[in-house]
Amino acid sequence: MRERVLIALGGNAMTAADGSASPEDQRRAVEKAMAHVEALLADGHQVILTHGNGPQVGNLLLKNQLAADVVPPVPLDWCGAQTQATIGTLMLNALPGRAAVVVTRTLVDPADPAFADPVKPIGRYFTQREARRFERLGQTWREFERGWRRVVASPEPREILDAAAVSALMDQGFVVVAAGGGGVPVTRAPDGSLRGVEAVIDKDLAAALLARAVRATVLVIATDVPCAFAGYGTPQARPLHRVAPAELRALHTAGHFAGGSMGPKVEAALRFVEYGGARAVIAALDDLGAALTGAAGTVVTRT
Ligand code: ADP
Ligand code: MG
Repeated sequence: MRERVLIALGGNAMTAADGSASPEDQRRAVEKAMAHVEALLADGHQVILTHGNGPQVGNLLLKNQLAADVVPPVPLDWCGAQTQATIGTLMLNALPGRAAVVVTRTLVDPADPAFADPVKPIGRYFTQREARRFERLGQTWREFERGWRRVVASPEPREILDAAAVSALMDQGFVVVAAGGGGVPVTRAPDGSLRGVEAVIDKDLAAALLARAVRATVLVIATDVPCAFAGYGTPQARPLHRVAPAELRALHTAGHFAGGSMGPKVEAALRFVEYGGARAVIAALDDLGAALTGAAGTVVTRT
């Protein structure tokens, strides 16, 4: 069966195995990931791609900070837009045939409670002294075990504003890369105007929303583990293969999936199926083909 599949690519599709993100590392990782995508295209499937951008945004933030006395630092939403373009370009170069990148904005609610309590760490660790300097510029920094790190809000994605452009390109036969890094976060003022905000959006939650908007039949979340596990990291770890939404929801509520890593993937898979999507799969990037047919990964289907 010909599927319309949205593939969310994690960090391992864009950086070396050790997380290193030099331009060469990124190009190599993207080429490897696109080879897997090419196999799906050869089978006649329609593909929409989205991706994370954590290490890339981290690098841009560091450059901003180091050069702050020379060039005005740009806001976080600009950094997000820049990474959509660079990562998207690497993907275009590695994809066969017609492909396009859509700079994608994701609407968030300015009243989202996440803005009052920013918890998502971004960029590198700094000393307390440096952290204080950036706090004076209006940023929020927190102390972690390894040092001080900037934290920003990670609000709920409400709407993928450029989804119609993605659909139009898809209908013309393009492989579309969209909503990279969860999309550029924007808020809408009462007068209707849009404005970028200093926040990051979880790429898996945005992927679920985009998959729904473009009427994807399958959402595949490609990462660096073969599937989601119950009791991950314990001697009782149990791989989850076929799992009913209610059972997965119960495991999620019981805290089996770490926040910021597997948690949002499970949430995204559940939401996509709850929205009416046929199937969501969390799988290793190397198992992409088998994940699409439901032969590999954690497979969530409507019941
Ligand atoms: P990506 O960059 O692909 O988005 P993440 O690092 O955010 O990947 O999430 C994948 C990671 O989630 C795995 O490498 C694993 O260490 C971690 N993880 C946390 N809880 C679980 C779980 N219950 N089952 C499987 N992996 C888990
Ligand atoms: Mg990762």
